[in-house]
Amino acid sequence: MTPLTCILVLGAGFGGLEAITELERRFRDDTSVELLLVDAKNFFLFTPLLPQIPSSYIEPRHIVQSIRDIRRDRRFRFLRAQVTGLDLTQRRVSTTVGDLPYDYLIIALGSVPNFFGIEGREHCFPLYSLEDGVLLRDHLLDLLEHADHESDPERKRTLLTLTVVGGGYTGVEVVAELRDLLFRHVAPRYGGIPVEDVKLLLLEAGPEILVGVDPKLAARARRKLEQKGIEFRTGAMVTTVRPGEVELKSGEKIATGLVIWTAGVRANLLLESLPVERNNVGRVFVTPELHLPDYPRVFAIGDNAVVRGAAAEQTVQVAPVAMEQARLAAENVTRGVARLPYRSFDYKPKGMLVSLGMNDAVVNLMGLKLSGYGAWLLWNTVHLLKLVGLKKQFQVALDWSLASLFPRDTSIIRRPHRCRFCHPESGGA
Ligand SMILES: Cc1cc2nc3c(=O)[nH]c(=O)nc-3n(C[C@H](O)[C@H](O)[C@H](O)COP(=O)(O)OP(=O)(O)OC[C@H]3O[C@@H](n4cnc5c(N)ncnc54)[C@H](O)[C@@H]3O)c2cc1C
Repeated sequence: MTPLTCILVLGAGFGGLEAITELERRFRDDTSVELLLVDAKNFFLFTPLLPQIPSSYIEPRHIVQSIRDIRRDRRFRFLRAQVTGLDLTQRRVSTTVGDLPYDYLIIALGSVPNFFGIEGREHCFPLYSLEDGVLLRDHLLDLLEHADHESDPERKRTLLTLTVVGGGYTGVEVVAELRDLLFRHVAPRYGGIPVEDVKLLLLEAGPEILVGVDPKLAARARRKLEQKGIEFRTGAMVTTVRPGEVELKSGEKIATGLVIWTAGVRANLLLESLPVERNNVGRVFVTPELHLPDYPRVFAIGDNAVVRGAAAEQTVQVAPVAMEQARLAAENVTRGVARLPYRSFDYKPKGMLVSLGMNDAVVNLMGLKLSGYGAWLLWNTVHLLKLVGLKKQFQVALDWSLASLFPRDTSIIRRPHRCRFCHPESGGA
């Protein structure tokens, strides 16, 4: 009997899921190949809609798809386990449920928030996982409940100063979502929260927001959000976060009720154990064929990899890049099994879509540059089509429609454990 070829894919995010489904398509009738997908979570998270969770615009479960549902009638196996180590010499991956040998490996373990060594990161709310989104949502709603009955006007204004750190597309979408929640939903319903006391602040260390987006569209996005009352401060590098305060490099201190951290990501820390070169945010350098130098059977894709020699926009940390690389890595594994030469990565960026809250967006898609309501409709359509699963598409479409007819559901499901009002002893955020 021919020994099985084991192909292991680590991570069931944009890259890993695309890689395993492409591998399955290519090896559908080849029973000599074993396909195994490993992830610590048993669901796929559609991150582009994550900013809409803290604002209670959509329900958290509607932006995730269980791997078991995606896997239905498929032949790849799924293992829910935390990867704990990578041994390229022994061709072995360690996990919380045991070691896994492999013949070919695709690493797609994504990123973690990058706090750039600031002090007080425990007082920030990152937004990377679904859990982050839900925690932030409950904490924000809790904060608003406290602000509503705060009798000291200065303290009320501090509580209602919400700070987003990081002016990339996530930060901009988050601050726009907060604005919708506070101005459209909270102000009319919380008698103790006058809109003039609400301050939405976005701090960006660099000279511009939305780097990578067409500069005219980025400027237009900033102008529109400023008109809606959002304050942008560029060249504002945060060095310390304390409960109720952020401090900038200049020494300036800003009183704030909440700090949301969207200032950047770095590659999964597991990659640090690999005997290969990495860039300043821990992404490994891969060859144009997407494998690690000296390890032709080990591929790294998406947020984990930088393609040597590729233009910067071809390896940015976005979903389309991860998916395109996944398809090529899967093809090259197939070619490796068939002893054919590998193909090289060649990708043309398709553009960028940034939501500016309800009814507004900026879009640069395949040369088409749009802003306003039309761009917002396009943003919604593209994201709805990209969601995995018809049920999820219906649920999100319904959430969006209901939000324009009915109030948002702002019930706090659990008592936020990081609330310094409910737990003064915790010194929480
Ligand atoms: C809030 C937010 C909004 C975004 N919006 C957009 C957008 O609008 N458009 C866009 O194109 N991109 C967006 N992105 C970026 C996009 O999500 C990433 O570039 C993309 O997910 C990268 O794909 P990946 O496969 O490399 O990693 P991921 O999709 O992050 O997948 C990594 C997987 O690895 C798993 N994993 C991690 N560590 C382990 C471990 N030790 N053991 C087992 N499993 C593990 C994770 O659970 C996860 O499923 C956004 C990201 C965030 C955080």
